[in-house]
Amino acid sequence: MTHIPGIVITGASGRMGQMLIKTVTDSDQARLVGVVERTGHDWIGRDVGEAMGGAPRGVTVTDDPLEAFAQAQAVIDFTAPEATLEFAALAAQARCVHVIGTTGMTDEQIAALEPASRHAVIVRAGNMSLGVNLLVQLTKKVAAALDEDFDIEVIEGHHHHKVDAPSGTALMLGEAAAEGRGVKLADVSDRGRDGITGARKRGDIGFHAIRGGDIVGEHDVLFAAPGERIVLRHLATDRAIFARGALKAALWGQGKAPGQYDMVDVLGL
Ligand code: NAD
Repeated sequence: MTHIPGIVITGASGRMGQMLIKTVTDSDQARLVGVVERTGHDWIGRDVGEAMGGAPRGVTVTDDPLEAFAQAQAVIDFTAPEATLEFAALAAQARCVHVIGTTGMTDEQIAALEPASRHAVIVRAGNMSLGVNLLVQLTKKVAAALDEDFDIEVIEGHHHHKVDAPSGTALMLGEAAAEGRGVKLADVSDRGRDGITGARKRGDIGFHAIRGGDIVGEHDVLFAAPGERIVLRHLATDRAIFARGALKAALWGQGKAPGQYDMVDVLGL
């Protein structure tokens, strides 16, 4: 049994944390060996199964990430940027594969992952689903095929608890569109128009965020030209797609050379 990788889930009580715990527990390719929550959380010291309102799973929620990581071969982390940076250093120390689903990281925070990636495998993606990663590839292709007569707009929708905008996925799609066009996203990005903005600038890539209810994640990439429109769309209806992708990444990373990877590597797209 020991060849089956042991996995730690951080942010255990979160929407994704709970989905990940269920996905790993249900899998016969991985073992749940630890779950981490932030200090002071009322799940600390409890059996995670009971904390989730079900049967005991024999794993106690801890606020000591290093102790948990030392028992594991991979850490799956969907938390918050500052927490993810701390976990990256500790996962590297424990030589664990660190799968990062956390979004909203600044460029500085992403750059700060580099030292950890010299010692361990990091797989980071703003969206871990197969469908979205395919959509990213399609977006790049369509943007490369069309000229600037086609205005590109990325429209995303998420539940009302989401704290960052545009979503990590919207940014992935925007990056793909910019890459397809051979431009830098930072030079053409136009976010959340409001007021007398003036006419749309040719070549810009626009972003719009809808927040409401329990929307899991919806993304449209619109290519609009005089007389015609193309819309590439992904609708997520179940968080399990992200958890399945994250587990796949944790298993894929075993035995890989230290470095930073994304889901395009994992899925071989
Ligand atoms: P959530 O708020 O429900 O959960 C976040 C959890 O992290 C909470 O339980 C919180 O207590 C915990 N946490 C925060 N700081 C911590 C720390 N220092 N130590 C341990 N735990 C800590 O949020 P969510 O909806 O589960 O999303 C979490 C993140 O994952 C967000 O950044 C979200 O955008 C991202 N996300 C990514 C994907 C993807 O496929 N990449 C998919 C869905 C969500």
